[in-house]
Amino acid sequence: MKAARLYGQGDIRVEEIEIPEINEDEVLLKVKAAFICGTDVRFFKNGKTGINSNNPRVLGHEFAGIIDKVGNRISGYTPGIRVAVAPNYGCGVCDICIGGNTQMCHRARALGVNVDGGFAEFVKIPAQAVLQGNITPIGNNISFAEAALAEPLSCVYNAYERIGIKPGDKVLVIGAGPIGIMHTLIAVMAGASHIFINDLSRERLELAKNLVPSVIPIAGKVREELEKQTAGKLVDVVITAASVTAIQEMAFSLAGLNGRIMFFGGLPKGKSMVSLDTNEIHYKQLTISGTTMQSLRQYRNCLRLIEEGTLKVKDLITSSSPLNEISEVIANVAAGKGLKSVITI
Ligand SMILES: [Zn+2]
Ligand SMILES: [Zn+2]
Repeated sequence: MKAARLYGQGDIRVEEIEIPEINEDEVLLKVKAAFICGTDVRFFKNGKTGINSNNPRVLGHEFAGIIDKVGNRISGYTPGIRVAVAPNYGCGVCDICIGGNTQMCHRARALGVNVDGGFAEFVKIPAQAVLQGNITPIGNNISFAEAALAEPLSCVYNAYERIGIKPGDKVLVIGAGPIGIMHTLIAVMAGASHIFINDLSRERLELAKNLVPSVIPIAGKVREELEKQTAGKLVDVVITAASVTAIQEMAFSLAGLNGRIMFFGGLPKGKSMVSLDTNEIHYKQLTISGTTMQSLRQYRNCLRLIEEGTLKVKDLITSSSPLNEISEVIANVAAGKGLKSVITI
């Protein structure tokens, strides 16, 4: 089969490798759509511990496809069904896993990160992931690509649940990339009255406005603009959807009284120390939180919301390419071109 494997920093190769063998507790998936994510770009640019010329890895953790084969002991899944696969799975028996957070397990693994993922014609779904329910059947009314977007969408949904956007909230999303736009889609769903989106790129703001017409783009001085538009009250929720230290620092001054701040985008290693004016937190009674990844419950919720048309993610897909063009596509994603880029197989 054809697969795109990372051999180390800047070295991804599309090559012919053996189709993975499955044992009696595993499932073989025929991949149909797999998205390139910022994480893949980071692995490509910086390399990743454990991935080297002796241990190349098939990247890709946002994918969907058709079940091709199931092991003898598998029940609940049959060949031929259309499914989406959540990438993170845990040991299955620790308190964290039993608490419903297999993605946070101390022994958690992820398809496309620690084991081979979706940038290939086939991917083996390991027994633990099968047993934990990482494979979810999808309706015929959505495409494989839409289904694959449940992964990034549910990361965003996790943040939404944590900060609890309520009807009437004024929300500011900083960063108008695909993740920032997903935050605005969910804020619309939650009933936010005003959704501001801020970015340095006017092109991205325009894209955001096209996709989510109710958003209010802010290109220039964000604090002044917010004061003007909210009669000085600022916003109830600030979400940072860009991995920039200065944005996190700025977030405190943009939240209004009783505001909630969500640090969604993580910062690069060694750059995560930020200075913060604790008086902003004290005198405005701010709540600050962060989230990462998603639980399987959140993943499945998001698949349902996509299927029901509550969250329309289709228009976030701005390019579709075959597997052998993956290097060019990664370069385009790294350069911030378009929104979500899918590899179709
Ligand atoms: Zn991702
Ligand atoms: Zn565990």
